[in-house]
Amino acid sequence: MSTIKIHDKEFVKTISRDEIATRVRLVAERINKDYAGKRPLFLGVLNGCFMFVSDLMKNLDLECEVSFVKFSSYQGSETTGVVNQVMGLSESIEGRDVIIVEDIVDTGLTMHKMLETLSHSKPASLAIASLFLKPARLRVPVEVKYSAFEIPDRFIVGYGLDYDGLGRNLPDVYDVKV
Ligand code: 5GP
Repeated sequence: MSTIKIHDKEFVKTISRDEIATRVRLVAERINKDYAGKRPLFLGVLNGCFMFVSDLMKNLDLECEVSFVKFSSYQGSETTGVVNQVMGLSESIEGRDVIIVEDIVDTGLTMHKMLETLSHSKPASLAIASLFLKPARLRVPVEVKYSAFEIPDRFIVGYGLDYDGLGRNLPDVYDVKV
């Protein structure tokens, strides 16, 4: 069992890079089927999505566009519940098939707010692809059409996810030790 320390906390490896690669490929296969003949716009939510977006894109055989937005509601390991606006969206999404790419859906507040904001711009369709989903934590109804992993209510780091700025570069995923 592999254990690491980040800041004041210990973390245990729970999901390997190989498992992630397999699940990301499965999500990509579903998207390839569902969006065949379309030209979706993937909107990655920074910062946590960067590894997921990168690996997902490499497994898509669709004509597609990729852009990034920023939306921040989190500090440290506790959600603040304060949700900000979508920043950095320079292209029009009117009439587009938009797939939001998120690292993790926790309470769902960020995605709920983001869906609400983006739907004002009249996309043809809006879907969410999230690497991780914590079903037990959802506080608002959010449909996550594509999720690679459903995980228990524990704080994780790695593969793009951080703990106070550190850990994003880890290729595997680690659970905080309780
Ligand atoms: P939500 O609005 O769904 O509660 O929170 C979504 C955001 O919270 C994610 O994009 C992520 O930045 C952060 N988050 C939620 N759970 C975790 C976690 O277990 N680990 C890390 N590193 N970030 C998390």
